[in-house]
Amino acid sequence: MSDDEILHQYLTCTMCGFCRPVCPVYRVFENETCTPRAIVGLAYGLLRGELDVAQASATARLSVSCRACEVKCPSGVEILKVIRWLRRSAWRQGIGPEKKRSAVEYLKKGLSINGKQPRVEQQEDVEVVLFTGCCERTEYAVVEEVFKQLGVSYSVVEQLCCGLPLLLEGLEDLLREHQQRALSKLPREKRLVTACPGCAYMLKEAGLEVAWLPRFLSEKLKLHQLKPVDQRVVVHEPCFGLRYLNAGEDLDALLRQIPGLTLVKPEPWCGAMSFCCGAGCGWELRQEGDGPKLIRRERVNQLRGAAEKVVTACPHCYRWLSEEVPVLRIEELVRMALA
Ligand code: SF4
Ligand code: SF4
Repeated sequence: MSDDEILHQYLTCTMCGFCRPVCPVYRVFENETCTPRAIVGLAYGLLRGELDVAQASATARLSVSCRACEVKCPSGVEILKVIRWLRRSAWRQGIGPEKKRSAVEYLKKGLSINGKQPRVEQQEDVEVVLFTGCCERTEYAVVEEVFKQLGVSYSVVEQLCCGLPLLLEGLEDLLREHQQRALSKLPREKRLVTACPGCAYMLKEAGLEVAWLPRFLSEKLKLHQLKPVDQRVVVHEPCFGLRYLNAGEDLDALLRQIPGLTLVKPEPWCGAMSFCCGAGCGWELRQEGDGPKLIRRERVNQLRGAAEKVVTACPHCYRWLSEEVPVLRIEELVRMALA
């Protein structure tokens, strides 16, 4: 985003404050300087030379990139673009958390954000390619079991970053280089399937044929007889599935297909207004401070009031929420229904 575009965003913002109550960072810190509209004002301050980069980018660096503010904004302010502009400005001055910095260095070397070598299984006669992104293959163990139950043939690509971290940090040049190098390793003629909604979003934006796991399973289950799963669960809808990929319907459709399930949504924090768990698709756990933990606490309180068990459809939400509350992955429910 250019300086002119930042000015345009600032002039577009009416400072109405509709974005404030939905922002998880504001809700946990309860400070006006931590609001989305403050981010827009801080960017303007940097543009005018009234603030230094460290001051101006402080709130943008706390964001969990959940996009709730943009959904709520009646004026169409592109707050995420402003956040990325501020983060990029900070990167240029060498300001940024160590955990994010080391991850970006790994990506520059063609490794995963955890410093691992990507592994791309080459198999011609498979129906789909299972893309684990930066998750370990072990985190996809239940998905693999379900694929076997469904008779889906697949190969696996693991530790290959989709590029989301570079997008969220506003590092557009690095993102372009990364996508050219990394994503060219993927077979263009095969459909990709991933449990991570952030990966699904990035791969789709890169022009690849990709299905988020709920959609793929929903298509497959139509051909199978399912057993009732007598569970009452509260649904944690992942921000990246709902507000980036716009695929909330796919998750709802899959859950509705499973007989016996009692589904609860944590009103009003569901659907387009689903509240972030604090992980920001895993990437925002690398920021400094307690923000992600405090946001998780808030989310767990919303979920606990609705049902004992949580179900989600994102490996990062699963891992992060599981530290505080019992969580089921969507594929575990499917496995029960197919057993
Ligand atoms: S909702 Fe939009 S217009 Fe209103 S204060 Fe927030 S960013 Fe500005
Ligand atoms: S993306 Fe989420 S955390 Fe960041 S400013 Fe907007 S509402 Fe707040």
